[in-house]
Amino acid sequence: MIKFSLVCETGHTFESWFASGMAYDHQTGNGLVVCPACGTSKVTKAIMAPALSSSRTRVIGNEEPSPPQLAAPGAAPPALLDPQHLEIRAVLGAVRAQILADTIDVGKNFPEEARKIHGGESPERPIRGEATAEEVHALIEDGVKIVPIPAAPEDLN
Ligand SMILES: [Zn+2]
Repeated sequence: MIKFSLVCETGHTFESWFASGMAYDHQTGNGLVVCPACGTSKVTKAIMAPALSSSRTRVIGNEEPSPPQLAAPGAAPPALLDPQHLEIRAVLGAVRAQILADTIDVGKNFPEEARKIHGGESPERPIRGEATAEEVHALIEDGVKIVPIPAAPEDLN
């Protein structure tokens, strides 16, 4: 099983379990994964980026662990977003364009690159990319500060 951090077309972030990366592709491709907050099937993996010192966001660290949740058609579990999450999301939405303009997309190498930069093995530079929920949690445990970037509607299809 693999857990991905996902984001819907309107910017709700949530996590969902999949049997594999291929199962994720299959389920999202067939509209079987729905946003628990608004029910849309237009969801994609959340893009991760290092925390910006200017944005005053302390993200993810205060996230409550949630039980494994399998996406199923028609199932819309209640949203688990608290006001702080909503506020953070609004801030992230506002700075999203700036983040994308200022960062280098390293794709699936994000966890490795973020760790190298944190450890001083790679030159410090702004990057963004994909990470599974496990990778995100491992990075946070290692003290690497990262934040999710809400996806823009044009990133979803
Ligand atoms: Zn949503």
